[in-house]
Amino acid sequence: MAALDPHLQEIYEVVLRRNPGEAEFHQAVLEVFESLGPVVRKRPEYVESRALERMCEPERQVIFRVPWIDDSGRIEINRGFRVEFSSVLGPFKGGLRFHPSVNLGIVKFLGFEQIFKNALTGMPIGGGKGGSDFDPKGRSNREVMAFCQSFMTELYRHIGEYTDVPAGDIGVGGREIGYLFGQYKRITNLYESGVLTGKGLGWGGSRVRKEATGYGLVFFAQEMLRARGDSFDGKRVVVSGSGNVAIYAVEMALQLGATVVACSDSSGYVVDEGGIDLELLKQVKEVDRGRLADYVVGRPGATLVTEGSIWDVVCDVALPCATQNELDEDAAISLVKHGASVVAEGANMPTTRAATRVLLDADVLFAPGKAANAGGVATSALEMQQNASRDSWTHEYTQDRLEGIMRGIHERCASSADEFGAPGNYVVGANTSSFVQLADAVLALGVI
Ligand code: GLU
Repeated sequence: MAALDPHLQEIYEVVLRRNPGEAEFHQAVLEVFESLGPVVRKRPEYVESRALERMCEPERQVIFRVPWIDDSGRIEINRGFRVEFSSVLGPFKGGLRFHPSVNLGIVKFLGFEQIFKNALTGMPIGGGKGGSDFDPKGRSNREVMAFCQSFMTELYRHIGEYTDVPAGDIGVGGREIGYLFGQYKRITNLYESGVLTGKGLGWGGSRVRKEATGYGLVFFAQEMLRARGDSFDGKRVVVSGSGNVAIYAVEMALQLGATVVACSDSSGYVVDEGGIDLELLKQVKEVDRGRLADYVVGRPGATLVTEGSIWDVVCDVALPCATQNELDEDAAISLVKHGASVVAEGANMPTTRAATRVLLDADVLFAPGKAANAGGVATSALEMQQNASRDSWTHEYTQDRLEGIMRGIHERCASSADEFGAPGNYVVGANTSSFVQLADAVLALGVI
């Protein structure tokens, strides 16, 4: 890896010292800093004003106990987090993740990514993230409700339509948002629709929000292909994961004429040469909350592979939509060897730094999640707009807005990459474009 600009190196060392042991947060910061050399050389005021250091320090971090009672009557204790990273562009905005791997470092990496992602959308939203080490897997609806109610009994005092607007992420979907919103409404005695996004369509949610991250990812990848005079038509696509992002990435890739041949969950990956059966996948994962082993039972031509890597499956377009650091250097080498031409991140930071380097060196078109998966949060901002005006838009209009936003992000990334001397490099484009927007706002708002 190229050495960091000395000013950036100094700031990075402060970040390391201040946040010991938070490997994913360090990784997310370093990945941004590696793009910023040309920016701070052109605009030294960003260093002199310590804008960058201010951006690396969250405005507020909340950690709290979440006690609840399981179905056997046992008292369970989880830990809750909300890291409110930056509100210079708008209220803190970002999802909640419920997964046993959640800790402060993970939430900080996600919150840091979120501020750049949200800036890229061009919408008035700051960045934050939260969650808990609670594992919803295998829990009854009543247990999930008890947990969500306890979680919100602390969180409610920190959030609000103009303060901080959480949404879903891994382990938090429509069911959890419903229980969280219900408890917020009960405690505050306010029907404050704009306090959470990802709500159900009958109670303040936006059309296309559920589909938005996956659809937006494919729209972004389509722009990348288009820039090279190509399209999704006839492409072989591999999508890792099988949650909300993956399912709707599969759906839109199919609509654009691609064949999706593999997807995965924590038990392994499915290869289905006939093309993933989307309705069956939705039934197994969304309706039954089951495992991919159940998909294979209903689909004789498909096989479940429990060893090795999904990135060994030959494809033209790879869409990592599972979780952080799932696509490592070996996986990137395998993708390059098999001729993949596009990798676009549906998850947050699924590609390791070494893997990113392999892909960029091999001239694979690579889109970082902060650009490619921003359709989810952008549609959350559209949900906030509808809530603020007590309106409800059609599917067609909302999807058009999403497509326009993804084209705008692609355009901003491409032109910023050109401006800072790295044409075609979406990592540089995404980091520099969002950083300049954020740093200018940090300077404009004074020392706060
Ligand atoms: N968790 C999603 C993300 O990573 C969505 C956040 C939101 O809608 O606020 O961007």
